[in-house]
Amino acid sequence: MKKGILIVLSGPSGAGKGTILAEAKKQGLEFALSISVTTRSPRGTEVDGINYFFKTHKQVEEMIKNDELLESKKVYDQIYGTSKKFVEDNLNKGIDVVLEIDTQGALEVKSKMPEAVLIFIVPKDLDTLHSRLVGRGTENEEQVAKRFGKAQGEIAQAIDYDYLLINDKIEQCAAQFINIIEAERLRTSREINKQIIASFN
Ligand code: 5GP
Repeated sequence: MKKGILIVLSGPSGAGKGTILAEAKKQGLEFALSISVTTRSPRGTEVDGINYFFKTHKQVEEMIKNDELLESKKVYDQIYGTSKKFVEDNLNKGIDVVLEIDTQGALEVKSKMPEAVLIFIVPKDLDTLHSRLVGRGTENEEQVAKRFGKAQGEIAQAIDYDYLLINDKIEQCAAQFINIIEAERLRTSREINKQIIASFN
């Protein structure tokens, strides 16, 4: 049975992760996007169960205690975490799973599941990042400054990822994202490909 590929996508706020995933879907890529749990409050039009599962600190701590999270990290004073069951169930069904998580969480996933593919996305330059953060209008001035300040530190961690994507032209960047996944499916280290090789003997 073919297992799905676990794809971890990170990048600073405003790099365009959501936009690239939506465009990749439009271009025909099929994947299950993991919905994280978080203790932070919903922003703007965010809906529970669609953007995040919004939980209390107590609920998330309980999930951590019960080993229900593949990884969990404190980001901007809030806890964010990935459901272990969602990831495992989809991978076992042969469905590729995308996690849109921060760099600390990504590296924890890689240490637990080395076959995970880590992709880091950056905007064209820092000015573009800043105008995207201001332009989307979902954070106040102080939050924009905090996220922008953190961005440079985050980008330095891209060196530990498998791939770097530059989000200049959306269609091209999404196509490159799809190309990475298609190449990853062909790795000889994937169980399904080992079986194909063995079947020739
Ligand atoms: P935001 O509050 O803007 O939705 O997300 C803040 C940061 O938390 C982003 O860098 C996002 O990728 C990260 N994040 C979202 N979900 C998770 C998760 O489940 N685990 C980790 N480690 N980070 C997450």
